Amino acid sequence: MARAFNFSPGPSTLPEQVLRQARDTMLEYGGAGASIVEISHRGPEFLEIAERAEADLRALLSIPDDYAVLFVAGGATTQQALLPLNFAAPGQRADYVLTGHWGQVATRQARPYVDLNIAASSEADGYRGIPPFEEWRLSEDAAYVHVTASETIHGVEFRPSAPGGHPFPDTGDVPLFADFSSSIASEPIDVSRYRAIYAGAQKNLGPVGIGVVIVRRDLLARAGQPRADIFDYRLQLEAGSMLNTPPTWNWYVAGLTFRWMLDEGGVEAFARRNEAKARALYAAIDGSGGFYRNGVDPAVRSRMNVPFQLHDPALDGRFLEEAGAAGLIGLKGHRVLGGMRASIYNAMPLEGVQALAAFMADFQRRHG
Ligand SMILES: *Cc1c(COP(=O)(O)O)cnc(C)c1O
Repeated sequence: MARAFNFSPGPSTLPEQVLRQARDTMLEYGGAGASIVEISHRGPEFLEIAERAEADLRALLSIPDDYAVLFVAGGATTQQALLPLNFAAPGQRADYVLTGHWGQVATRQARPYVDLNIAASSEADGYRGIPPFEEWRLSEDAAYVHVTASETIHGVEFRPSAPGGHPFPDTGDVPLFADFSSSIASEPIDVSRYRAIYAGAQKNLGPVGIGVVIVRRDLLARAGQPRADIFDYRLQLEAGSMLNTPPTWNWYVAGLTFRWMLDEGGVEAFARRNEAKARALYAAIDGSGGFYRNGVDPAVRSRMNVPFQLHDPALDGRFLEEAGAAGLIGLKGHRVLGGMRASIYNAMPLEGVQALAAFMADFQRRHG
């Protein structure tokens, strides 16, 4: 069976070239006499993979030297609990800005450890926009401000570095923490604007099972809260992200994906491609005369995750079935919003989006 265009939100489509490389080394890796999943994470083969993955990620995202990079298991959600444990004193205030579902999940992970303040939220309008900065109620004594750069379910995105985009406000001396799970490496960003950036890999960086935390080194001097070694970022850094056995296969495939992105021209090239893909898909929705709808404020629509509804939800099942038959999969919307969602991360080619737009127009002709 041929590979379909996969619009799944995460795990999500990977570059075919990366999958082929992974397959070719599955049985035996570069003279090791065994698969990468079978050999020690402390042996020379894997240490080289880990080193190269970090160097490539640093090059890809232009990460300054005064930032540490951690490779972590447990996904983005686990980091949402570890950030307060590592960087907030017990019961210290922490500010959260909610622009969708994942910001809300982050508050649930942090609430046991901090005096949680919702500094701003667009929940009342169904998370269709970003609250104006004048309305943000930031605390001067907060341990940090937490934002979600791209809301994967609600399709709302800050464009921190884009010309004419929606940047984050200056939080002064209070460190800005950002969940970049679904938009990391999708365009250039200025890492030095953040004290911590984190992302699960399964959206834009590779396979599920691993994630990255990029943290300014001086932040690691904070005492944080009583915690087990395994939850301690500083100890993880000292151990090369290998306090215990890391997910070596996932790390390896993520590294292949970093290299692929560099070979394709880096984040500047992906910014152009992602812009073109998003433009094509929103044009298909907005040009449908209301047959398809996306209710997000156009100024902050996500380039990565495009939720849309059919004018008649009774057609949803048929849409998904016919899309699947046309080689377009993973379009079912998240249960909190229903309808459809197309995730169009770096590994989704423009041709995939064009095929989806053509299918949508054809479906409308037949069912409109
Ligand atoms: C997917 C996602 C998460 C959760 O990631 P896990 O790896 O499943 O923990 C958190 N935040 C955002 C923005 C996401 O897209």
